[in-house]
Amino acid sequence: MIPYGKQWVDQDDIESVVEVLQSDWLTTGPKVAEFEQAVASAVGTAAAVAVNSGTAALHAMMFALGVGPGDEVIVPALTFAATANAAVFQGARPVFVDVLSESLLIDPAAVEAAITPRTRAIVAVDYAGQPCDYAALDDVARRHGIPLLADACHSLGATYRGKPVGGLAAMTAFSFHPVKPITTCEGGMITLDDPELARRMKQFRNHGIPTDARQREGQGTWYYEMQTLGFNYRISDLQCALGLSQLRKLAPWVARRREIARRYDDAFAANPGIRPLRVADDVAHAYHLYVVRIPGSDRGDVFRQLRASGVGVNVHYVPVHLHPFYRERFGTAPGLCPRAEAAYEEILSIPMFPRMTDGQVDEVIGRLQEIVRRQTEEPPVRRAA
Ligand SMILES: *Cc1c(COP(=O)(O)O)cnc(C)c1O
Repeated sequence: MIPYGKQWVDQDDIESVVEVLQSDWLTTGPKVAEFEQAVASAVGTAAAVAVNSGTAALHAMMFALGVGPGDEVIVPALTFAATANAAVFQGARPVFVDVLSESLLIDPAAVEAAITPRTRAIVAVDYAGQPCDYAALDDVARRHGIPLLADACHSLGATYRGKPVGGLAAMTAFSFHPVKPITTCEGGMITLDDPELARRMKQFRNHGIPTDARQREGQGTWYYEMQTLGFNYRISDLQCALGLSQLRKLAPWVARRREIARRYDDAFAANPGIRPLRVADDVAHAYHLYVVRIPGSDRGDVFRQLRASGVGVNVHYVPVHLHPFYRERFGTAPGLCPRAEAAYEEILSIPMFPRMTDGQVDEVIGRLQEIVRRQTEEPPVRRAA
């Protein structure tokens, strides 16, 4: 089976992790700050806060802004549920807005139309690894005085108008789950410039306690204070050692993803039954996912046939407002975000990972084209006898 995404772990990654296993600090040691600095410098921000998942990163951003009951947080309908869940963790209401049909990125005009006096944050999602229209979103956010946040769980390594994702919003969340651009097994990070927000999130990941065990040991004290209600969202030194080693390979991996995307683009250019998403010309896409729409086919059937033939396709995502939790808790229903809902019926994520060979790419192209051709071909016209 060719999976839709897969991590790449080398001997040097393994050695980095083993070295930490044999050191004094398994968790919250020197590797955490080292990994934070490396990611901050890669994306060009003054600070970064590492946590144990992308979800924790999103939650920490909500906490740092003081999002709470009665507040609204604008999110796109077509994303992983965690984008919206982070607002709910803090007692706020996620407000789902539609995406643009061609790119499936959040629609800046829909964002503006959804702003109310209760709006506390806008969360943009770089769907599939393509940066959103940050200039338009930033313009909306500034005019209304609302912080723009980025869920960049797909887009580490992407750029917008030459600037790396990570420094394009007030705070940006990344995920290091195995299918994401680089992995720490589980892990996440927030990049930002504001030192006060960074301080709040570092405290939040450690139960609301400002110092960690290693700092107290260095200061020769046992005393600590819990100042706010936080969580254990700490990432381990083991994971950060893996992340540091993976980060060194990000650039060649993203370059390989772009090569694979070009091969797919070329193959599907002349095929109206297989439509890749539109990519803006002022971005460099990170291609966490390669998503196509197959408008003339039965998506469920194509999905099953591809899986049966060894091609591990997937669907990203069920629009979040259609999940039972959101329907029951917030009364959301079909019709709320019609473009996201229409896209959901037609989308397929086809295999995309840096270690994929050209032969595997061609196998995916051949099988998808063949299945779509059979689905969209007119039934043979029966000739009169
Ligand atoms: C993966 C992902 C998350 C959650 O990240 P985890 O590390 O799995 O918690 C959030 N948002 C998006 C868009 C994602 O793809």
